[in-house]
Amino acid sequence: MRDELFSLIYKYNLRPNRDLGQNFLIVPDIIERNVERAELSERDVVLEIGPGLGVLTKELAERAGKVYAIEKDRRIIEILRKEYAWPNVELIEGDAVKVEWPEFNKMVSNLPYQISSPVTFKLLKHEFERAVLIYQLEFAERMVARPGDKNYSRLSLMVQAKANVELVERIGKGAFWPRPKVDSAVVVIEPKPRDERIELDENLVKALFQHRRSTVASALKKSAHMLGVDKRKLKEVRNLLNSVPHSGKRVFQLGPAEVKEIEERLRDEGIIGALH
Ligand code: SAM
Repeated sequence: MRDELFSLIYKYNLRPNRDLGQNFLIVPDIIERNVERAELSERDVVLEIGPGLGVLTKELAERAGKVYAIEKDRRIIEILRKEYAWPNVELIEGDAVKVEWPEFNKMVSNLPYQISSPVTFKLLKHEFERAVLIYQLEFAERMVARPGDKNYSRLSLMVQAKANVELVERIGKGAFWPRPKVDSAVVVIEPKPRDERIELDENLVKALFQHRRSTVASALKKSAHMLGVDKRKLKEVRNLLNSVPHSGKRVFQLGPAEVKEIEERLRDEGIIGALH
């Protein structure tokens, strides 16, 4: 696999583009484990973001019924088209953040780290069964951090409102060519059952996490402008903000259900409007 990859790189004189996060996997075991984790069968339709030179795509195509691979770099699309004729792979040229995604039930990718956040949020808007994704380690740790942890952030809250997430493997820099500056990790994402998913007001979550170490009451007051509460109105609602559920907790200790309770009180009191 490694030889095949480097022979393509030499053949096409490919200089990896850092701006596109082109760090290619060169350790077959990692690819194998991720494909195993996806539990693929003929009935699966897999979405891959950033196939690169196809080392993962090839394995996915052997096990799944259909693979869609979205790649932004035209040179890479041309190489894949020239070199491979996988009957069940459809290459989509474009920016995965912008193009509409086809229907799929599994996602397996070694993500370009620049787009980790928009891709994750876009993924959570889709119906799917399981995703096995390689992220930058620090991002992965934030995704799985629990309320009260030092890494717990807006990302952790928004992801865990919708899905169960698990960091299943750390990957060193040497598993990629060229070597990235940071370590990586594999995260498995499974959506929660529909009736357990919590839809949160993103604006409120942003307002709260501007001040993640403050108490809820204090964070709401400091970010009141983000909720459309001007200085004059803040005087009127000060007491109300002091008495929302969990007002004395620190923002980074709040789980999704607790934020929902705060949101509902603010909505009942007319502080925040209909869900955007
Ligand atoms: N899957 C390959 C592997 O594991 O060796 C390549 C992974 S590499 C980390 C990321 C790939 O995503 C590159 O091929 C890069 O060109 C592509 N890419 C970067 N930004 C993208 C975007 N916005 N949309 C789609 N693909 C993108």
